[in-house]
Amino acid sequence: RTFKRQMMCRRDIDGLSVPFLAIYESLIPPEEEKLKQKQLLGLLEKLVCKEWPMARLYLYGSCANSFGVSKSDIDVCLAIQEVDMDKSKIIMKLAGILQSDSLQNVQALTRARVPIVKLMDPATGISCDICINNLLAVVNTKLLRDYANIDSRLRQLAFIIKHWAKSRGVNETYHGTLSSYAYVLMCIHFLQQRRPAILPCLQGMDATYSVTVDNVDCAFFDQVEKLGHFGRHNKESIAHLVWGFFFYWAYCHDYANSVISVRTGSTISKRDKDWTRRVGNDRHLICIEDPFEISHDLGRVVDKRSIKVLREEFERAADIMQYDPNPCVKLFEPY
Ligand code: ATP
Ligand code: MG
Repeated sequence: RTFKRQMMCRRDIDGLSVPFLAIYESLIPPEEEKLKQKQLLGLLEKLVCKEWPMARLYLYGSCANSFGVSKSDIDVCLAIQEVDMDKSKIIMKLAGILQSDSLQNVQALTRARVPIVKLMDPATGISCDICINNLLAVVNTKLLRDYANIDSRLRQLAFIIKHWAKSRGVNETYHGTLSSYAYVLMCIHFLQQRRPAILPCLQGMDATYSVTVDNVDCAFFDQVEKLGHFGRHNKESIAHLVWGFFFYWAYCHDYANSVISVRTGSTISKRDKDWTRRVGNDRHLICIEDPFEISHDLGRVVDKRSIKVLREEFERAADIMQYDPNPCVKLFEPY
């Protein structure tokens, strides 16, 4: 497959950076949206602390990892030590606490894979999901945010890839395609692989940040401002990277044998992880190792049908980036 295609990128590629950056800019949430999110978090904290003074609320996911586009919902984690209460009981109680005049549609979803309380804040128009004690998500949110602060091209690339995935209907885990979190990890991995590298491997460096969460040691270098401009020796433009990203997933990644691993800054073999066969519902057709829960394959939602959809979409995008006269329009055409 790789050899059927020419590796050389079109000559006019860098000229496409201007329209791609315009798309990126149009997706950035305005400052007032950030303020509204903080305001809602403040209100939630006030209500929660009346009942549970020791509890803490953390923002995680795209509202806190810097990969959130405008008008996203916010993800909140309630950290609480209620040893004698199971999660669905806490969820029920939390929903009760939040039934206030100032919030709408407060629902406890106790039977979801991750039990949550959902609600809407009419003052700001923001919807919010609150989960319980999912502190690994808070830590992986920090890791992603720290990566984003190393080189601005990561945030640009990830916004464009997320926008593409949403437009093409391949950002739906319940339909067997990938989460936003998985796409951002694919972008980080890709930028770690460029030569010269655009991103380092923060978990491979001397740790300046270290916590243990749910028996998982999470340690990495987080003083990213000290890295100078790490990727400065690589001058690739954003359009070139968008082309390269799709080319990589369409024609270069070894789906049969490799696992992408941001943790190691490289790929590792499926055999080493024992991810070569289907176990339960985990088929391992595209393997993306979670940086902290390393037994966790973020590609596990992908099945025989959706892997085909995904790979055809990567090929379509790579071909558009290579040949189409107007890739910035064609790439995002609704499916
Ligand atoms: P979007 O803008 O689409 O809402 P998001 O960054 O909030 O994107 P999600 O895929 O909704 O991404 O995930 C929210 C957060 O939940 C992620 O940032 C991550 O911290 C955590 N998360 C999501 N899926 C997983 C997973 N399978 N394993 C571990 N953590 C996950
Ligand atoms: Mg989210």
